[in-house]
Amino acid sequence: MQRIVLKVGSAVLTQEGDIAHRRLDNLVEFISKLQKKYEVILVSSGAVAAGYTLLPLDKKVIANKQALASIGQPLLMHTYRTEFAKYNIICSQVLIEATLFSDMNRLAHAKDAINTLLENKVVPIINENDVTAIEELVFGDNDQLAAYVTHYFDCELLSILTDIDGFFDKNPHENSDAKLQKIVHTIDSEQLKQKHSANSEFATGGIVTKLKAADFLIKNNKKMFLSSGFDLTCAKEYLLDNLHNNGTLFKAQ
Ligand code: ADP
Repeated sequence: MQRIVLKVGSAVLTQEGDIAHRRLDNLVEFISKLQKKYEVILVSSGAVAAGYTLLPLDKKVIANKQALASIGQPLLMHTYRTEFAKYNIICSQVLIEATLFSDMNRLAHAKDAINTLLENKVVPIINENDVTAIEELVFGDNDQLAAYVTHYFDCELLSILTDIDGFFDKNPHENSDAKLQKIVHTIDSEQLKQKHSANSEFATGGIVTKLKAADFLIKNNKKMFLSSGFDLTCAKEYLLDNLHNNGTLFKAQ
């Protein structure tokens, strides 16, 4: 069975200061269908935003952000657990730190655990361990973390679900004539130097971190598919029916 990673961002998971329950439900239903065809790992953001719904601390202070992640992570997991249970699916929490990927011994242990979970049809839900992470040693955004997870945990493809239909030739929020790029084989080094352009209050990455993730995966001969997490039609068509009608596929030529 092929193994894939789904990454969902804060923009999709939160709405008006709350967890976007309907979108999360739709995502879980989608994963239940994907499980018939793939082994699925989920990389989920949204812990800080979920924490903020219970205790609105000032997010600009790093210790507050870490506290919010600590409050929000179990709340987010509770929401996932309740929803997955409707499909008789067990989900699990995996908190990792960026340094894991440069420590072959720890990585091998983590891989064994992930393999065991997937063999048992469990959906591992991965997030960066923000509470104990040291600022200089973090990914800081789950796009690049998800790319590493894809590569190091032997997955074929990373599907990023975001608040936009795909990658455009320019920022579509600022340019009405921006065109969606259906397929991308290489990423220009200039594009990787752009400043971050996250669109929503809790998003951290913007398009640059998605391009960095894509660049890493292309170089490692893996694929990345970027599409809307608001409307899952395009991700469903691509992953379940092998139809590429919309969204951006990043892959080596
Ligand atoms: P997420 O929370 O899903 O990671 P982000 O807000 O971090 O979402 O990233 C998606 C945003 O990146 C889009 O909504 C858009 O505002 C911005 N963006 C900037 N340039 C582009 C581009 N060329 N193509 C697509 N999106 C872009």
